[in-house]
Amino acid sequence: MKYGMIATWKMAYEGVVEGSEKLRNGKEVSEAVICAIESVENNPAYRSVGFGGLPNRVGEVELDAAYMDGERLCFGAVMAVKNIKNPIRVARHLSGYQRNNILAGGGAESFAATHGYESANMLTHESQQRWEKKIGEGYIPEEIEAYGGHDTVCIIGLDDQGRMGNGVSTSGLFMKHPGRVGDSPVIGSGFYCDSRVGAASATGVGEDIMKGCLSFRIVSLIKAGGDCQGACEKALFDHEADLKARGSKPGSMSVIAMDKNGNFGGATTQKEFPFVVSREEMEPTIFVAQNDGKVHRVIKATQDWKDNYLGD
Ligand code: ASP
Repeated sequence: MKYGMIATWKMAYEGVVEGSEKLRNGKEVSEAVICAIESVENNPAYRSVGFGGLPNRVGEVELDAAYMDGERLCFGAVMAVKNIKNPIRVARHLSGYQRNNILAGGGAESFAATHGYESANMLTHESQQRWEKKIGEGYIPEEIEAYGGHDTVCIIGLDDQGRMGNGVSTSGLFMKHPGRVGDSPVIGSGFYCDSRVGAASATGVGEDIMKGCLSFRIVSLIKAGGDCQGACEKALFDHEADLKARGSKPGSMSVIAMDKNGNFGGATTQKEFPFVVSREEMEPTIFVAQNDGKVHRVIKATQDWKDNYLGD
């Protein structure tokens, strides 16, 4: 069995390098996925995840994270938590329980403290400055969007024993209402993972992603015999068309998937969506899903593309 990893956004690259190294050395998938996500959570240069994440409208960094074990179909999630250094670790811990798998706010924070998870002030000087600038410029609460198109880190792993795991971590939409929760920690929407089939994850405007339960939908299409790329495109574009047909104006949505054999796919409703893939025979590589409104395609990122990419 070969190993593989796929992750949303270019910012996941270093994490995928670290996580893939673990998979190459025969480590269990959850260890590789958690290590990869932590690498993004700990890096304040990545503005939409973990330390230095995007503040809510009252200037607090409030985080969501989830982990799903595709062997046992178990999952854990924390929602709207503050001052937890690595929310993904707490989510993984909760995935080991039969009950109490989702904890929110103060309950999640006290669980993390009781179990010895490190706490930290996640608001950096830069994230505070970003918030002050936004407050100065003004914004329309009903029109908040994915920040520059790059928000949640979602990582799917496949180890050499065929086990799959799926982790997500995010500060959610910039200037969200305190307590607002998006798709990311919601099973079936932001993530879904079944080692016997495959896994999928989503990033973008959570309110729109949740309406289509996009991750579960993609895994169901793969289960019905679809290939990963086709499943990503069908689930995403059918859902986008459905929302538009009902008079809604969906925000950006992007998805990734990997099946139990390491085949992968990615799709987006926005102009460009980079994602990172590694497999036994392929070093971590950045791919870009591109959508000009008529044609959707996936290319390997060229050096020129990397030099000119301004996002995280
Ligand atoms: N899906 C996240 C949310 O709605 C944000 C993102 O991935 O862009 O909270």
